[in-house]
Amino acid sequence: MSAGALCETPGCDQEARLQCPTCIKLGIKGSFFCTQECFKKNWNVHKSVHKKETVTEPVAYNPWPGFPFTGTLRPYPQTPKRTIPTHIARPDYADHPEGHPLGEQSARGSSYIKALSDEEKEGMRVVSKLGREILEEAANAVAVGVTTDEIDRIVHEACIERECYPSPLNYYEFPKSCCTSINEVICHGIPDKRPMQNGDICNIDVTAYHRGFHGDLNETLFVGQVSESAKRLVQVTWECLEKAIEIVKPGVKYRDVGAVIQKHAQSHGFSVVRSYCGHGIHQLFHTAPNIPHYAKNKAVGIMKPGHCFTIEPMISEGVWKDEQWPDNWTAVTQDGKLSAQFEHTMLVTETGVEVLTRRLEKDGLPYFMTIR
Ligand SMILES: [Zn+2]
Ligand SMILES: [Zn+2]
Repeated sequence: MSAGALCETPGCDQEARLQCPTCIKLGIKGSFFCTQECFKKNWNVHKSVHKKETVTEPVAYNPWPGFPFTGTLRPYPQTPKRTIPTHIARPDYADHPEGHPLGEQSARGSSYIKALSDEEKEGMRVVSKLGREILEEAANAVAVGVTTDEIDRIVHEACIERECYPSPLNYYEFPKSCCTSINEVICHGIPDKRPMQNGDICNIDVTAYHRGFHGDLNETLFVGQVSESAKRLVQVTWECLEKAIEIVKPGVKYRDVGAVIQKHAQSHGFSVVRSYCGHGIHQLFHTAPNIPHYAKNKAVGIMKPGHCFTIEPMISEGVWKDEQWPDNWTAVTQDGKLSAQFEHTMLVTETGVEVLTRRLEKDGLPYFMTIR
């Protein structure tokens, strides 16, 4: 103790005779007091010094104490809801207090599949191309340490630059502009402040709304170096989508899509998620047809020229069963093992299929094969 040091307690000018033991332990200089009494009196104020100097573990954020998570992923805090300038055309649910898509709801229950006019097809081509550009910007930002909220910010800004409304925003009150689904998350993960970790797999699902039409696509990407088993899952999931697209043409039953996907997934020991399906898409985000990705389903309808829909298989390493987090969105595998997904929006032509969200660069190969 340096000679002549005075007690730190405000108003006490006594000669200091002791030093705070916690400060000594933490290597904090100074912290001199005259007596134990004075030290105790000043404790409530003084102890804040320790916090600043201590390297603390990040405070565990657990909004649902006691919730039995199926895997190791946890929710992180979210940033405030982002807004879209009012000059950009918005879908009906954007301003509904509970985010209800009234147009979709009035079409629900009908299995009628609309065939698009030439003008509507062109609207779908335009928005699908914009959706691809937006996903590309997001995909290029994926790296170890980047938060899924940052991916969401990039998607949000990329939408605004292209005069698009990000379709997920406020859809049934979904709080963000895209879905980011990490590891055991099957789909509908909410972007948050979790930094992506080396070895994660991350699906980014983008839907853009432009001049009255929605275009929907997603891809799963690698974060840093991922395991061989994760690589195999992602590769096989992408192949499932490609094989499903190969059978699309007029006259094919929608229920036959699932058989192709399940056969390929199963041949690699993987399972097909059953709770989430491909869907019709045009002026409505989700509408008829409903397209299950599993075999022996009872989907209604036959493909005809002008039909527009998504195929978006979710393939899991372990069981096909899913559960939902208490945020009412995040769907996870029941066994906590990995799940991957790929999605395209496509149009049935006179002779086959036009994949509207196809990547125009790199022969249409997915990002996990071409980035890094
Ligand atoms: Zn999607
Ligand atoms: Zn979709």
